[in-house]
Amino acid sequence: MSYLSDITGGIKSLLGGMTVTGKYFFINFFTRKEVITEEYPDNMDTLKMYDRFRGEVVMWHNENNEHKCTGCSSCERACPNGAIEIIWKKEVNPETGKAKRAIDKHIYHLGMCTMCGLCIEACPTDAIEWGQDFHHTTYDRTQLTKVLNKPGSKVISGTKE
Ligand code: SF4
Ligand code: SF4
Repeated sequence: MSYLSDITGGIKSLLGGMTVTGKYFFINFFTRKEVITEEYPDNMDTLKMYDRFRGEVVMWHNENNEHKCTGCSSCERACPNGAIEIIWKKEVNPETGKAKRAIDKHIYHLGMCTMCGLCIEACPTDAIEWGQDFHHTTYDRTQLTKVLNKPGSKVISGTKE
């Protein structure tokens, strides 16, 4: 009996799905309404992800190759997966002559990131944000480890933790 009701349920569910597909097919065919399906990857050049899309964590840099990361490690501490490692160094402030903690490398392990956003929320200077690139497929896991501060970049003068 349960065997028969399983078959009936399967057919019902199949017809339900086909009804939705058929409705879209015929409505678009007869009314010439715009089809909303994205033709990926043919539309790669024009594809724009929604602003809220979480593709990866990135560090914003201005046109002078400056960022707002002070190396405070708040993001590292906030990450539940250990996906962020902050390598810092001591730098002497030329104005005060005092040694100060500064960012050397902001390392982000994309392969360990679950896109929870806790690191972005924890950053006191809004130095990191969501990037929308989602083309992360690779045969080499090491390519999923990124240094977010660009080579030769420095922190914007006056940025405070
Ligand atoms: S988004 Fe979440 S998992 Fe990814 S690096 Fe930030 S805190 Fe870690
Ligand atoms: S990204 Fe933000 S929270 Fe992380 S080390 Fe830099 S300033 Fe601190």
